[in-house]
Parts: sequence; structure tokens; C-alpha cells
Amino acid sequence: MNIALIAHDKKKDDIVKLATAYKDVLAKHRLFATGTTGGRIIDATGLDIHRFKSGPLGGDQQIGAYISDNKIDMVCFIRDPLTPQAHEPDISALLRLCDVYEIPLATNMSSAEMLLRGLDAGFLDWRNVAKESDRDELNF
Ligand code: PGA
Repeated sequence: MNIALIAHDKKKDDIVKLATAYKDVLAKHRLFATGTTGGRIIDATGLDIHRFKSGPLGGDQQIGAYISDNKIDMVCFIRDPLTPQAHEPDISALLRLCDVYEIPLATNMSSAEMLLRGLDAGFLDWRNVAKESDRDELNF
């Protein structure tokens, strides 16, 4: 599965803890992240992560584009609900695309943990069927 990891600045310590705790689960999958989040997780865990641009510089939109191309199977976006974000429209667009394409989305630590456990239990295997029709066309 292709997993996207994103966290706002005040939540980056949290996503590092999450990635550390679930490193063995995450290591079985292809990982993507916004720039700063990805860097923090790589430094802490050594996981192999494709880093997009930083969120405020377009990284959220890049992940959204991957979602619309059926290239992302799950999103953990640990949001900071108490701090205004300059790129709020990009964040809303990313969350909206998850709903448009029925992509499992967690926006806080407890739901992210549930998604990662579900991922490891095979609950997201239906995504392989969802991707089947696009696979040849997208070569992904
Ligand atoms: P960052 O982006 O990982 O580059 O900080 C996350 C965001 O704020 O959307």
C-alpha cells in the first residue's frame, strides 16, 4: 500500500512517535510525506520515504494529485486544530479529495493508530481491487 504521512508543526513530535511505534508496519509499505514531516520521520526511524515539497509550499497539493490518480491508499494527516495555517485551502482540498476517492484518512493520533492496525490486519486489502483497473494505465 502507498501511505501518506503529514503533520502540522506542533504535531510533528506526535507523528514521529507514531512512526517509531509502527515502524515495522510502515516498513512493509511504500511511504510518502510532505517535506518537513518526512525529514523528521526519516531522521528518527530510517524509514524509506518519498518526500514531496513542504506542505505550505505545495506538498499537500502534490499528495492530493497522487490521490486523484489513485496512487495513495491511506492518509495519516495529524492536524493542529488550534493554530491557523497559511495553507488552509490546500489542507481542505486534500481532505476533500480523500472523501471524493474514499481514501482512509486519519486526522489525529488515535484514529491514525486504528488505521495502521487495520492496515496491518489487512483491512485495506480492498484497495488492491480498487487500484486494479488503474494499474496498467498508471504503471504504478
Ligand atoms: P511539512 O508540511 O511536513 O512540510 O511541514 C505539513 C503541512 O503543514 O501541511
